[in-house]
Amino acid sequence: MREDDALVSHGAIAKLHEALFASKHLFTMMTQDKCPKCDKPRLKSWEELNDEEREVVKRLPESADYSLAERKTSHRWCTRCWNEEMSTDEMRLI
Ligand SMILES: [Zn+2]
Repeated sequence: MREDDALVSHGAIAKLHEALFASKHLFTMMTQDKCPKCDKPRLKSWEELNDEEREVVKRLPESADYSLAERKTSHRWCTRCWNEEMSTDEMRLI
């Protein structure tokens, strides 16, 4: 019986560690503001893109899922690999 109890709490602790690691990882990603795919620092918002870059963004596959207006306000892009990131505004409120 005692062993079973120990196993259960071990599992719970492992889960907690997992959750802590995940949130830490997320926090690092947010604060460093770099591309999760190619590690290029500094993702760009629509305002920061030049005309040529905006044309590329308009052709990205994400344009099928999101309106351009929505992407302009809440998405950011990596200008090296053109990975598109959603805004982390909701996360910042926590
Ligand atoms: Zn990238």
